[in-house]
Amino acid sequence: MFYINENFLNLQESYLFSTIAKKVSDYQEKNPNKKVIKLGIGDVTKPIVPAVLKAMHEAVDEIGTEKGFKGYGPEQGYDFLRKIIATNDYKDLNISEDEIFVSDGAKCDCGNIVDIFDTNSKIAITDPVYPVYLDTNVMAGRSGNFNEEKGIYENIVYLPVSSENNFVPELPKEKVDVIYLCFPNNPTGTVLKKEELKKFVDYAKENKAIILFDAAYEAFITEKDIPHSIYEIEGAKEVAIEFRSFSKTAGFTGVRCAFAVVPKTLFGYTKLGEKVSLNKLWNRRTTTKFNGVSYVVQRAAEATYSDEGKKQIKENIKYYLDNAKIIRDGLQSAGFTVYGGVNSPYIWLKVPDGMKSWEFFDKLLSKANVVGTPGSGFGPHGEGYFRLTAFGTKENSIEAIERIKGEMI
Ligand SMILES: *Cc1c(COP(=O)(O)O)cnc(C)c1O
Repeated sequence: MFYINENFLNLQESYLFSTIAKKVSDYQEKNPNKKVIKLGIGDVTKPIVPAVLKAMHEAVDEIGTEKGFKGYGPEQGYDFLRKIIATNDYKDLNISEDEIFVSDGAKCDCGNIVDIFDTNSKIAITDPVYPVYLDTNVMAGRSGNFNEEKGIYENIVYLPVSSENNFVPELPKEKVDVIYLCFPNNPTGTVLKKEELKKFVDYAKENKAIILFDAAYEAFITEKDIPHSIYEIEGAKEVAIEFRSFSKTAGFTGVRCAFAVVPKTLFGYTKLGEKVSLNKLWNRRTTTKFNGVSYVVQRAAEATYSDEGKKQIKENIKYYLDNAKIIRDGLQSAGFTVYGGVNSPYIWLKVPDGMKSWEFFDKLLSKANVVGTPGSGFGPHGEGYFRLTAFGTKENSIEAIERIKGEMI
């Protein structure tokens, strides 16, 4: 008889998005004449920009010729893409192309990276959190049992982020091995300043821990002094892996391309205390389990760095950020307390006193016909909060705010 990986049975079923979909369809059925505005989506809506499309078309034609045909490419990504990433995203930060691993998504990278750490590693995540960091470690057997009452796993260290600490996580009180950080944050939309991030880098150095830094929303940063890369912090190259993605930056959620940065100065340890290069381990893992991103997609990603590409992508990001401002300012003037939405497409609002996230969801749906995401779906410290996204249209963002002002206060 074969046995399954029973760690999977320890996963909590996520009813978040299916419950939202069910509530919305029930409401629509009963109220067919109401136009529901969806500001719950975590997916981009603007089409791929022309400069990128052009590069894709050319690459498609190229592989249809004898001379231009491409079979398997390098597992780590083509040199042309690794080089242009290094010289653009990491200009002045001295990241070399062989420290960059091109992949089909930051979600996959965040999930796959757990392969290279010991099963007994102590994991720290922020709460609320992007669920991938948690669930992939549960699957790998790094969590204890789920505590229904508290809504958390034993053996996982939760670092709460809320208005009480201004969304700056405190350092772990106990010794941890792996710390996941995501800034600009999904779901809270908040950022860390350099000196706040530096504390984590220093902690990691002192405790021989590693930071997994998810910078998927880096392109949305508008304020000065907010680090775009963890490698802007001194010493980070010895303690951090960074994940980036073309998904939110360039609308690649369907096209699929991302990359991980694993510096050659980053080492892990064996039980005997020997130092092992993580770049080597990740390279070995990648060449064994992955066959690379398609040539056409890598040419598309390359084109996001052309002058035209950059300009067009910037316009799309500005469009989303303008929506974020409309939502943020609108909610504020309606008397809500809001966070995020300045360096991020996410607005995190505090639901009125005494209300739960799901109660606010129901009220928002039935009164304003607007859909968002209850904060409690991202972790126990998300209770009392609510996420709206700027990925909709400008018209809908404006109308949603008008309805909220008219019906909710
Ligand atoms: C959207 C998102 C990503 C990007 O994932 P891809 O697999 O590259 O599409 C990564 N991290 C977070 C927190 C996200 O919200």
